Amino acid sequence: MIGAGPAGCAAAIPLVCTGHRVLVLERKPSEDGEDITSGELLAPQAQHECHQLGIDLSADWLLDRVDGVRNVYPDLSWTYHRFPAGVQYVQVDRGRFNAALRTRLVAVGGRLLWGARVTGVGFGSDAATAQTDGAAYRARLLIDAGGRYSPALRVLNLKTDDPEFSQIGVAVFFESFRDTPLHTWDRHFYGQHGAMISGSRIRPGLYRYILEADLADKQATRMRPVEFYESIARQHDPWLYERIMSEPRTGNVWAMAPIGYRVTAVARDRLLLAGDAAGYLAPLTGQGIEFAMRMGRLAADTAQQALAHNDFSADAFAGYIQGRRDECDTALAYLRHLLHRLRDRDALLRAAHDDDARVEIFGPMMAEVADRGSLTGEMRG
Ligand SMILES: Cc1cc2nc3c(=O)[nH]c(=O)nc-3n(C[C@H](O)[C@H](O)[C@H](O)COP(=O)(O)OP(=O)(O)OC[C@H]3O[C@@H](n4cnc5c(N)ncnc54)[C@H](O)[C@@H]3O)c2cc1C
Repeated sequence: MIGAGPAGCAAAIPLVCTGHRVLVLERKPSEDGEDITSGELLAPQAQHECHQLGIDLSADWLLDRVDGVRNVYPDLSWTYHRFPAGVQYVQVDRGRFNAALRTRLVAVGGRLLWGARVTGVGFGSDAATAQTDGAAYRARLLIDAGGRYSPALRVLNLKTDDPEFSQIGVAVFFESFRDTPLHTWDRHFYGQHGAMISGSRIRPGLYRYILEADLADKQATRMRPVEFYESIARQHDPWLYERIMSEPRTGNVWAMAPIGYRVTAVARDRLLLAGDAAGYLAPLTGQGIEFAMRMGRLAADTAQQALAHNDFSADAFAGYIQGRRDECDTALAYLRHLLHRLRDRDALLRAAHDDDARVEIFGPMMAEVADRGSLTGEMRG
């Protein structure tokens, strides 16, 4: 296994538990401690996947719970939607969440090798090989869960741009954020090239607001990421802009581009790709960890069958490709639909007042409005 992130651990833990010998190669030298720099929301299904792996969900790396969404529309009117009973996102300290996965992996008997950066992979008739700086490891099957910069993607040249969406993400962290609704994912949609700034409190004293926008728009301005972030807020959202410019910032500004990419093949002879190594679209629905863990579980099922039948050919992995389609494609199709609709300012303006229009964009969970208002009104107030 390459990579001890969510996908790698979700694949390795069940394999070890069913009696297989698994070696996980992780490039980091050791656990990083606290990390709140990119994916921090754990979606309901991701929490379920953790539960299935025996990960304790009452641990102290779970931070603020998120039990509703505020949609702010281009005219700065907003609607608030409470998640149905039992549905909850939760903020996590990503470093310590990863550590919990790895602790579980080692506790069930998995072998985890720190400081093992895989630089090359090879595939022969009897084994796959993963090459690190100091050694070569042979296995009947290799699962690459090395994330967006996974070695198999690079060596086999499997990564391509997403033809529809090429976005930039810029995250800024704050010590306080006046009037932001607590336990709420606050999403501000501007309807221009998909630009959106969304955020929430991660825990007392730490807030994150992240911009997602077209990379071409950013490149046209030639601004630094943080300047581009501020300029989008200034252009569209005086409520947010005022706070972005006055609230105390903390930590580093974090930027990534392009966020999305495709992968031409997720299974080949003796190789399965799982998690971000199998492709990524956008963080819009906060499901990256969920998809990674679902794919890890599917990869483990497929690996067990391959090991039982001693068949590691690409044909034997058809079930993995189908399983991935069944579990993730509906959500990905919805995500694509959402990305399209976020470019349609008129549709977003309709969604502010018209229940059907809102459901058409955001799905049935946004049908019921628990509260509504206007940021323009609040600023006047
Ligand atoms: C802006 C942004 C915001 C996001 N927000 C969220 C969110 O709120 N909620 C959410 O669920 N998801 C979010 N995501 C997505 C989420 O972070 C990823 O989808 C998820 O981490 C994928 O897990 P993974 O295990 O596939 O990869 P990773 O988490 O990247 O893990 C890969 C592991 O492999 C190791 N590795 C890499 N290369 C090598 C190598 N050569 N040799 C050995 N080891 C290697 C790495 O060190 C790492 O431990 C966000 C993504 C972005 C870009």
